[in-house]
Amino acid sequence: MTRDPRYDILFEPVKIGPVTARNRFYQVPHCNGMGYQSPQAHAAMRGMKAEGGWAVVSTEECEIHWTGDVAPYIEGRLWDDHDIPHNAMMCEAVHRHGSLAAVELTHNGPSASNLLSRETLMGPRHEMSRYYPWQARRMDASDIRDYRRWHKEACIRAKKAGFDIVYVYAGHDLSLPMHFLQKRRNDRTDEYGGSLENRVRLFREVIEDAKDAVGDSCGVAVRFAVDELMGPDGITAGSEGHDVVAMLAELPDLWDVNLADWKNDSVTSRFADEGYQEQHISFVKKLTTKPVVGVGRYTSADHMVKLIKSGVMDMIGAARPSIADPFLPKKIEEGRIEDIRECIGCNICVTGDNTVTPIRCTQNPTMAEEWRKGWHPEVIGAKESDSRVLVVGAGPSGLEAARALGQRGYEVHLAEASTELGGRVSREASLPGLAAWGRVRDYRLFQINKMPNVTVYRDSRLSAAEIKDFGFEHVVLATGATWRKDGLGRSHPFGIEGLGGNESFSPDDIMSGNLPKSGAVVVYDDDHFYMGGVIAERVRQAGLDVVLVTPENVVSSWTGYTLELGHINKRLRKMGIRIVTAQEAVRYAGGIFETACAYGGEGMQIAAAAVVPVTSRLPNESLWLELSADEAGWKAAGIKSVTRIGDCLAPGLIAQAVYGGHRYARDLDRPKSDAAPFRRAQPLVTT
Ligand code: ADP
Ligand code: SF4
Repeated sequence: MTRDPRYDILFEPVKIGPVTARNRFYQVPHCNGMGYQSPQAHAAMRGMKAEGGWAVVSTEECEIHWTGDVAPYIEGRLWDDHDIPHNAMMCEAVHRHGSLAAVELTHNGPSASNLLSRETLMGPRHEMSRYYPWQARRMDASDIRDYRRWHKEACIRAKKAGFDIVYVYAGHDLSLPMHFLQKRRNDRTDEYGGSLENRVRLFREVIEDAKDAVGDSCGVAVRFAVDELMGPDGITAGSEGHDVVAMLAELPDLWDVNLADWKNDSVTSRFADEGYQEQHISFVKKLTTKPVVGVGRYTSADHMVKLIKSGVMDMIGAARPSIADPFLPKKIEEGRIEDIRECIGCNICVTGDNTVTPIRCTQNPTMAEEWRKGWHPEVIGAKESDSRVLVVGAGPSGLEAARALGQRGYEVHLAEASTELGGRVSREASLPGLAAWGRVRDYRLFQINKMPNVTVYRDSRLSAAEIKDFGFEHVVLATGATWRKDGLGRSHPFGIEGLGGNESFSPDDIMSGNLPKSGAVVVYDDDHFYMGGVIAERVRQAGLDVVLVTPENVVSSWTGYTLELGHINKRLRKMGIRIVTAQEAVRYAGGIFETACAYGGEGMQIAAAAVVPVTSRLPNESLWLELSADEAGWKAAGIKSVTRIGDCLAPGLIAQAVYGGHRYARDLDRPKSDAAPFRRAQPLVTT
């Protein structure tokens, strides 16, 4: 297929100082939990983006010096020459496909941890560390000189490693140039404090230093957060954010602009639509002739064209869309936009960095497995037998298994009990703010529908006897899970007294439209991810009074890892949902939901006509139990294997269900082993 000419503009080259990007697709810096610790895996992941057509591929934050370590987070590192080979590996992987490699150099000052180096943190003034119960010391003139020298030397090391673009980072409320800019952190009386001209001085000097050090052959980019969305205490696009761009307009070779902090930059689809940053960053291009990059979870090629034509940006920046589909540019280039695996905006990718583990993606199960497992997001090994596979259940797990098995060339039969495909993804996408999650289903269905070797049967609830009768060689049970109504879960190993009757509604009930008719409803959240909050929203939207009770100290505590905690807590309160924290359920009786304080204080009696426990799920495993009890029977029918995947094996994240389906498809007809099924980076030990 050929490219639609209306997208030609996206494939024009862009000059970034002395280097030229081959098109307008720019993978902006993003964390990935591999960095210095797993350089091969990191390089392979970045190389895949270049192969997929991103003209610029950036690192994550890259520490320039040991006085600003961000342990335990695993980012990039260019402290000294020992770090050059690791980074060179990434540059080579990116160059192999004709793209430019960019490095986001940073010293995080008071936002570092120094948990590793044990050095005292430093910043523009004496102040609390951003994350820890200790303080940063005020930098004096010699500290500033040191910092500038370290940054310059890191630029030179970056060039030696092969980077084409070096960044001066003033974003996300994380790095020294930004901290010096911020009125609320900078009370200095020297030439680096006071007026904006003075507060911008360090930013300007470090850009000049970078240009001086490597500007002859490397582009010097800045990443600048034009608005912190905190009003006049922070940088705002209407005031100092604007003025900083005006003052430095032509100094850098490229402006990569966004919002701070990270929760405002990487907003989930529950809280913001594609293009949510445009209103804040659109002024930048009016102030500079240098190329401007912006982000906003862009997956629509038409939207991208509009952004370029209307002068909002010159290059389409992306972190998450490039994670969900490293081949997004190639698919547009080849006239295959329907094949794009669109990011759903769930931020499971972000949880990798926040849990100090390799990045995971709901849509792209191969993310971070490029080197570890040799998985390619677009290529999969051909089938190794003529076995036929029956997949039971068309949720994310069954759909992905069927899609990937189909891609391998197997004959696949996908049977789904209901009329609608997508399983939990379709159900959950009907909840407030989660519509984009339906993309998990849509991408897979579109692919499956193109495959003559995959047949889908709707309205086909299969029994064990029917499965045996079919006699396909392999059976995959992807029958999902069901929310419990009895309250059993983390804090209640024996369930909650009084639940399970007519006044108890499960999240499945709410999702299928079976809501309590009237009265106050208690949503009891002992799951702590998104479900408790969205169920409360759904019930509240129906006009009922809602009390959200949790034994945790904060509602939806695990969403701290997806950057949603603040957004969720604000929204629930704004909707008039009453929040009760640190209270454990005791019993529900006579219309009263009784709780005990998690810390031995006073309990509560909450009047409630109905209770929705969001506590745990049970796998839908009746088929599995029946078939496991009759191995001889199914073997006699010609079936070679019966396997559970996804929520039917153990209820978990949608990302885990997709991965489970993908892994099943990759592993079919491959030898099994006790060895770890992935490669690991090993520290070099010399004797
Ligand atoms: P997962 O997240 O593991 O993919 P889901 O709960 O999303 O699980 O999807 C499971 C799907 O399996 C649902 O669409 C459900 O209707 C379907 N299903 C459950 N039991 C059967 C069965 N016996 N035959 C066919 N489909 C089934
Ligand atoms: Fe997008 Fe979710 Fe994948 Fe992150 S994990 S890239 S938000 S689909």
